[in-house]
Amino acid sequence: MLEIKKLKTSIGGKEILKGIDLEVGAGQIHVLMGPNGSGKSTLAQVIVGHPSYTIDSGQLTFDKKNIRKLTPDKRAKLGIFLAFQHPVEIPGVSVFAVLRKAKTVSGIRYPVSGKRNTKYKIQDTESITNFRNLLLNHLDSLKLSRDFLSRPLNEGFSGGEKKRSEILQMMALKPKLVILDEIDSGLDVDALKTVATSIYHYNEVNPKSSVLLITHYARILKYLKPDFVHIMMDGKIVRSGRMDLAKLVEEKGYQKMEKEVQYV
Ligand code: ADP
Ligand code: MG
Repeated sequence: MLEIKKLKTSIGGKEILKGIDLEVGAGQIHVLMGPNGSGKSTLAQVIVGHPSYTIDSGQLTFDKKNIRKLTPDKRAKLGIFLAFQHPVEIPGVSVFAVLRKAKTVSGIRYPVSGKRNTKYKIQDTESITNFRNLLLNHLDSLKLSRDFLSRPLNEGFSGGEKKRSEILQMMALKPKLVILDEIDSGLDVDALKTVATSIYHYNEVNPKSSVLLITHYARILKYLKPDFVHIMMDGKIVRSGRMDLAKLVEEKGYQKMEKEVQYV
């Protein structure tokens, strides 16, 4: 689904990613771990097309399509979603309005006139009522109150609410590739469990959807059963493995890992 080969990127002339190889197959859960400043968020931003980062060399393909030149909205329409490490506040725009607009924009285009001079318009994939009901179910499973939908997006949200709001967007938009940047930071034990099981459930009910989860801590992984774990240091993936790699990091810390680095 997602293929990254020898990817090098920079910002303001400073090289951040120094040759990344990563392949995420349909339905897989991948975890990316690494110390602060190693380039994890940069990789996430580059995949979704943040304009500040320059791709100097390498390949970035999604569903066999070269997406290097696509704008972020086009990548989103292909089904790539990023839950931000620091979600922005949008005063005056409700959670519901944002979700409905996003869902409409990603809706199906269908012909509205005859075969000749066919015009296309964008149709909601669900009626508003159905969509609202669906969201209310999601709110219940995320243990958020029902008035959450009418609150301005992220304004005055607690840390935990911001993270759950990102997960709500994921559930509503049903992306093919979900990238979660430190979704577990700042969550208490109960909220962590709620968020993690929601991600796991999402992957179960959408078996072709893939997850790339960026985290510092192995504690979220016990709810997720990742297929692969990668360790990033100084702009490179220095080790890839299974769940036991995450346990090793937790026991030894990144610094010790660095001494035993095995390039893959
Ligand atoms: P991580 O998410 O692993 O903590 P980041 O991807 O946020 O790491 O950062 C990687 C490196 O890139 C850091 O050294 C950081 O200072 C640098 N960096 C990230 N964004 C910018 C930016 N906008 N301008 C300059 N340097 C940046
Ligand atoms: Mg980061």
